[in-house]
Amino acid sequence: MILTVTLNPSVDISYKLNQLEIDNVNRTSSVSKTAGGKGLNVTRVLFQANSPVIATGFKGGYLGAFIEDELNASQIKNSFYPIKEETRNCIAVLHEGNQTEILESGPYISTDELQGFIKHFEKLMDEVQLVVFSGSLPAGVPVNYYSDLIKICNHKSIPVIADTSGIALTTLLEQSNKPYAIKPNLDELSQILGYTVSEDITEMKNALKHEMFNGIQWIFVSLGANGSLVKHDDEYYKVNIPKIGVVNPVGSGDATVAGFASAYSKDKSVIEIIKTANTFGMLNAMEQQTGCINIDKFEGLYKQIKIIEV
Ligand code: ATP
Repeated sequence: MILTVTLNPSVDISYKLNQLEIDNVNRTSSVSKTAGGKGLNVTRVLFQANSPVIATGFKGGYLGAFIEDELNASQIKNSFYPIKEETRNCIAVLHEGNQTEILESGPYISTDELQGFIKHFEKLMDEVQLVVFSGSLPAGVPVNYYSDLIKICNHKSIPVIADTSGIALTTLLEQSNKPYAIKPNLDELSQILGYTVSEDITEMKNALKHEMFNGIQWIFVSLGANGSLVKHDDEYYKVNIPKIGVVNPVGSGDATVAGFASAYSKDKSVIEIIKTANTFGMLNAMEQQTGCINIDKFEGLYKQIKIIEV
């Protein structure tokens, strides 16, 4: 069983408009409301790939209940921890080929809730072999909270994939409790190193030799349509992917994480793990819905991936 952790989930609302009129009333009948957040994208993709998965995180109020109902309706196992404040909405307005987003920062998590979640998380540990942390930390959550959770996993020898960014990722890398794997894109890698890393292979390899990455077994640097650069222990691989018909690449990083988790939990080889992760990323980019793959197209893409040790 893979446990996905989404501390700041959302109900994602998407409104389609022919035209967005500023400072006026905009009406639409084209509305979709889904359970969102990076960790829930990972969860859905794992479920679609037939990998056993359970989702956790904080849930509050009606919107928290909506997320649970959505997951239950899809028969996705979940065990969210209740909080006092309301789970957030994230709104995307699709208009004239543009996507205008309004992202709520989300609920404030109290000290009691933080401690309560740790106990809840520890109980869930009994039935899982791999943990995935995705996304940002809601207000009230200390920046080293992921590290505290990783410490529990490391103590139980349960590997962790951490896909976060900014201060949460920087803090994670500064602590002694390292995740087993991380998946920064090039922007996130540049942000944590404090300089712009280009797609030049030597430059990316040098960037990953920084001491802050010591102790992390896997680093997937995802490069969108250009595939990825992967560091596994002291080996580096450039992953070249075929050209595909891209529909919506948002969430491809989350699908990549799901691919890694799925292959890793099935004891696949290093090359198979790398190929599966990239294939899942591509499969997501080929679908309209964020965090969604058509597993029937897996084989066709998988065999076109070329991996070069660099
Ligand atoms: P997000 O934050 O939206 O989840 P990301 O920036 O973390 O995405 P990307 O680097 O965009 O992640 O994509 C992850 C993987 O998905 C890539 O390594 C690649 O395998 C696949 N992918 C993404 N975009 C494309 C694309 N336009 N064409 C082909 N494959 C893609």
